[in-house]
Amino acid sequence: MNSQSCNIAIVGGGTAGLALATELKRLGVEGVTVLEREPEAGGVPRHCGHYPFGVRELKRVLKGPDYASRLVKNAGAAGVDIRTDTTVTQLHPNARLSLTTPEGSYELQAQRVVLCTGVRESSRAQRFIGGQRPMGVLTTGALQSMVYLNQKRPFRRPVIIGTELVSFSAIMTCRHMGMRPQAMLEANDRVTVRQFMRPFPALRGVPIRFNARNIRILGDKTVEAIEYSDAAGQHRIEADGVIISGRFRPEAALLHASHLAVDPGTGGPSIDQYGRASDPSYFCTGNLLRPAETSSWCWHEAVETAGRIVQDLASPIGGPEGISLRVVDPALRFVVPQRLVKSDAPGAMAHMQLRLSRPASGYLSAMAGGKTLWSDFVQSRPERRVFAPLKPLLKPGQTSAIEMRIL
Ligand SMILES: Cc1cc2nc3c(=O)[nH]c(=O)nc-3n(C[C@H](O)[C@H](O)[C@H](O)COP(=O)(O)OP(=O)(O)OC[C@H]3O[C@@H](n4cnc5c(N)ncnc54)[C@H](O)[C@@H]3O)c2cc1C
Repeated sequence: MNSQSCNIAIVGGGTAGLALATELKRLGVEGVTVLEREPEAGGVPRHCGHYPFGVRELKRVLKGPDYASRLVKNAGAAGVDIRTDTTVTQLHPNARLSLTTPEGSYELQAQRVVLCTGVRESSRAQRFIGGQRPMGVLTTGALQSMVYLNQKRPFRRPVIIGTELVSFSAIMTCRHMGMRPQAMLEANDRVTVRQFMRPFPALRGVPIRFNARNIRILGDKTVEAIEYSDAAGQHRIEADGVIISGRFRPEAALLHASHLAVDPGTGGPSIDQYGRASDPSYFCTGNLLRPAETSSWCWHEAVETAGRIVQDLASPIGGPEGISLRVVDPALRFVVPQRLVKSDAPGAMAHMQLRLSRPASGYLSAMAGGKTLWSDFVQSRPERRVFAPLKPLLKPGQTSAIEMRIL
């Protein structure tokens, strides 16, 4: 098979991949290549035709597509080699990739690979939504692609399942094409977004139905109605489409088929505090690390990762072996990073990121070998950012696995 080489191969030309590539060039790294499967780079923001993108990182308030094209332009101007229509199909040990393009397949050998493949929403099957299988059931991402990239209106009166931030942006996407959502269905008794945003759907004329269970989609060829039940009984909403929104998962198909360790909590790669996967020739950044953060967050995370890669090229950070950092409490869903290596190399993450699986309050504690290494009060809900410092866990002589729990 045809074989090529580069210095840094970046898989995924979304926010993280482009920000990382541009920063690597700014730091003087040669041979930076971005591999993007779509015909255009830019990632998710390409089809988010709404504000506000870029406020912190570009000091501008932009719509998603303008933000994406600015990131592409910046990367191109910095000298990044962006290869579109290029899908990475396999990850091999020691930074070697298999790729496929419309012209054929080839292999790419790099010094370091960075995985930046982002997140996607859970599908209908992953959410156990029953009923018939008509046309007109889309994720928000698919809806946004149809509306903003292809100017198509797939339905007029959809029901939105979920109340995450992306579910609210589905309302805006619908309005853009004159679609009128009939309702939002939420399995819990409150919205997943922060409470101050709760009035937004009502202001747009979209009622929220809470405690909605046993959702079924009805219709032979196209969607005709949605049925669900709550404490009051069974309900039916006439609709011609369904938007299944949120419950993000890392886009980790490549990972699962590879030699790299996967973390069951995030569904993404298991990384150390430098962002390295279990094969240290692979770094990871952006939303692949965990579901899900904003574009701005991923941009900053990627810029920090670029610094770590430069550091590693100049003076290797060391082997991948380290102490495991894990969540052992059912109230905790995941922690990133999942491994702490012994290294004095600068640039390590200062904090771990955690998420809760249910609303909880108590002392978030890092424990090892029966001792408490760090503890602080936390009161939070799922989908909110929770942080804890890594420094107190990196004491000399610390060799036992570190377990995170809420006491
Ligand atoms: C539907 C949806 C709506 C969202 N809306 C918002 C929003 O309004 N505001 C906000 O701040 N954030 C939003 N997000 C979060 C979004 O993940 C971040 O904004 C940001 O795009 C994350 O950057 P990233 O580089 O990690 O991933 P992405 O931007 O998703 O980029 C990943 C890239 O990797 C490419 N890729 C994946 N696999 C391969 C492969 N095997 N080979 C080659 N290329 C590959 C993809 O094509 C994609 O371009 C949304 C996410 C989704 C899924």
